[in-house]
Amino acid sequence: MTNQRILARDVANHVDSTVTVRGWAESIRRHSKVAFIDLRDRTGITQIVVTGELLTAIQTVTDESVLSVTGKVTKRPQNLINANIVSGTIEIQAESVEVDTLAAALPMPLNDRSVGEDVRLKYRYLDLRSRKMAENLRLRHQMNQYIRQYLSEREFVEVETPTISKSTPEGARDYLVPSRIIPGSFYALPQSPQQYKQLLMVGGIERYFQIARCFRDEDARGDRQPEFTQLDIEMSFTTQEEILATVEELFLGLVTKFFPEKTLTFGESVPRLTHAEVMEKYGTDKPDLRKDTTNPDELAFAFVVDFPLFDWDEKKKRFDAAHHPFTAPKKEYIETFEKQPKEALSEAYDLVLNGSEIASGSIRINQPELQSRIFAFIGHDQRSIDEKFGHIIEAFRFGAPPHGGIAPGLDRIYSILLKEETIRDVIAFAKAGDGRDLMMNAPSVVDDSQLKELGIQLRK
Ligand code: ASP
Repeated sequence: MTNQRILARDVANHVDSTVTVRGWAESIRRHSKVAFIDLRDRTGITQIVVTGELLTAIQTVTDESVLSVTGKVTKRPQNLINANIVSGTIEIQAESVEVDTLAAALPMPLNDRSVGEDVRLKYRYLDLRSRKMAENLRLRHQMNQYIRQYLSEREFVEVETPTISKSTPEGARDYLVPSRIIPGSFYALPQSPQQYKQLLMVGGIERYFQIARCFRDEDARGDRQPEFTQLDIEMSFTTQEEILATVEELFLGLVTKFFPEKTLTFGESVPRLTHAEVMEKYGTDKPDLRKDTTNPDELAFAFVVDFPLFDWDEKKKRFDAAHHPFTAPKKEYIETFEKQPKEALSEAYDLVLNGSEIASGSIRINQPELQSRIFAFIGHDQRSIDEKFGHIIEAFRFGAPPHGGIAPGLDRIYSILLKEETIRDVIAFAKAGDGRDLMMNAPSVVDDSQLKELGIQLRK
């Protein structure tokens, strides 16, 4: 190809010249003397007009084949202008059509959400060609960029924390990774970077964020994913109000920029409601506060604050941390939480949106003694505290600043904003409801030799 490639969105700037466009043949409409190809690239569709001898050349071209087309850009007559496509005022009179690759018959139509989701997940790379999925991924990228810029401008530092590490309790089961070098020992994939972000505060970073992957081995339920993405945030020398205000400004700003058509139930502010208040009034800690729940463009953000410190765990017959064990009790309960655990309130808070919990966080414990008391109260003996959490308690002995943070779940927030029913539709390569990756066929059995190297023998 001699000509430089022109994108669909720019073709109309080249009327009367000869250009080359490249992309996928989304549809081919063949008539006796003429054929029309809708050629799709990442910016949209260009209509290609094929006549004469070229008609024979494209006879075998199938839908979704990849083509390079060179031809003259001509204006369409007024009555044939198509306002639905970016290049709708023009078309290209093909002079040559090169087939880069021929596509086999697709196992599913594109742009049709009535196709079974399993098929969409198995052929995700095809599903990503659909307009909605392509738009979701682009917007996700732009919103991530917005978040990164907003936080960077406020002196937050994005730090990458390890993926193979030690378990951090967030109330779920860990994914374990066996160590080959130290047989019989395991890494855990992080349920969240919770301990690392607190250790970054001990390390003097003061303002941290990360668009972080979290891994939780939970039973398949609704649209949970075994791995999901949080905007993980932690701040030192802060207050609950400063953390909430940061997140409030961030998300209201994001909504205003990307979704000007949406209405905010509470305008430019996000109400702070206590846990006790919402439980009494709505019977749930994630109330849907929209005025009209049939309107998906209405957004009701609200903070729920003053969560209980502990929940009663009926299976284990003991109290467990309601948020996670690094959450600070409210000052007035520090002396008494062991004696009156049910009454004790914590410095934990959630952000809810339209009936979904979209963020949780808390002010943390930064005193080694208090941290040990909490672990002991939720059932760890000294040995288990030392083994599991010795490192963080030790770190708190070397000057831990007061700190706190929050972690908005980006998949959930984006799916609500993009009006998708499931978070899978805002994740490029999502797992099916039962946790399987249908495209890569994972999890899968591994070779005996791999297990041997790891010193692992499967039980019958
Ligand atoms: N790590 C917590 C979570 O994933 C959030 C936080 O406390 O910042 O729920």
